[in-house]
Amino acid sequence: MSYTIATLRGDGIGPEIVDEAVKVLGAVPGLDLEFDFLEAGADYYAEHGEPAPESTWKALNSADAILMGSMGHPDIRMPDGTEVQGHFIVNVRKRLNLYAGVRPIKSYPGSPSLSPDHGPIDLVLVRESTEGLFASFGGGAEITGEVYADTMIVTRAGTERVSRYALELARTRAARKVTCVDKANIFRSLAFFRQVFDETAANYPEIRIDHALVDSFSMLLVQHPERYDVLVTENMFGDILSDLAAALVGGLGLAPSGDIGDEHAMFQPAHGSAPDIAGRDVANPVATIVSARMMLEWLARRTGDETLRDAAELVERAVVETMAAGSRTRDLGGDLSCSAFGDAVAEAVRRLAQ
Ligand code: NAD
Ligand code: MN
Repeated sequence: MSYTIATLRGDGIGPEIVDEAVKVLGAVPGLDLEFDFLEAGADYYAEHGEPAPESTWKALNSADAILMGSMGHPDIRMPDGTEVQGHFIVNVRKRLNLYAGVRPIKSYPGSPSLSPDHGPIDLVLVRESTEGLFASFGGGAEITGEVYADTMIVTRAGTERVSRYALELARTRAARKVTCVDKANIFRSLAFFRQVFDETAANYPEIRIDHALVDSFSMLLVQHPERYDVLVTENMFGDILSDLAAALVGGLGLAPSGDIGDEHAMFQPAHGSAPDIAGRDVANPVATIVSARMMLEWLARRTGDETLRDAAELVERAVVETMAAGSRTRDLGGDLSCSAFGDAVAEAVRRLAQ
């Protein structure tokens, strides 16, 4: 089977890291992917006055899956003062109903852990991605020239579907535990989030349920990451906590993500376009390569195509083996360039495939 992958290289380090992921997928024998390279992002906006052309939106809708690098430039802004990238990415999530922001936090060989006492870390944060504090994105309100508002929106339907996603995910994992991270002690919207999570979880008696308040949780996650398994949380909390959690396993260069819905999904690193290191071939492509591996798994689940499942396993083993052999980029204390690291993983894929 052949699959069309809508591919957004984006801005900053985006093109560099996407090229390495495409290189690695291209090394898998028998995997038939057609990469449809699409325009969108801050650079595109600077030239054309819109975040993406209509043709990109159409292609996202019809593709089998979406692979993205990263977007945004701090100096390229919309008339309302916000950055361009959200006007594309947040809208992709809303338009395609990509409600589950799945962000695995996992130790790789040689990833410097902040918490060496706790052994390997293996968590998955599920960030609600269509509402919460991002619901008014693109709207927001100027109330007076001195007062602005963005409103937190929590719905039963939105909370139910992301809770179900987290609970189903926990079913596939050994620890079978979900922690709902909220601020139910203060906000009505988040007390409701917890209530709907609990109601949904009542249908999953085999899953252990736990609650945490986001402020103290931020400390506990750093001190005792081994206490947690699957986490589910509101959009903004998830955005912040996933970058915090990435620091536990070596930083953003190792933080993959999937924006997953019932019909569509987009895979991209959890990090941004890193303008401070862009264009120098020094970025860490692991997060993007592992996001591409998640894409293969998602496609495999949807289609039942074993080739995809095998390819996903192969890519994961190649990343683990490459890192175990001591190959790493600068952010992890190594000296490999982005492209040389990609070469090493692609080589490992070819070797392991034999
Ligand atoms: P960032 O994630 O781009 O960078 C934070 C820090 O981590 C920087 O020091 C960067 O060099 C480093 N870093 C990130 N990814 C790395 C990698 N793969 N390898 C090595 N180092 C890496 O966050 P920021 O600096 O806050 O934002 C920069 C731009 O990215 C902004 O324009 C922002 O809007 C945008 N952004 C985009 C996305 C997205 O595309 N989904 C997400 C977050 C931020
Ligand atoms: Mn973020």
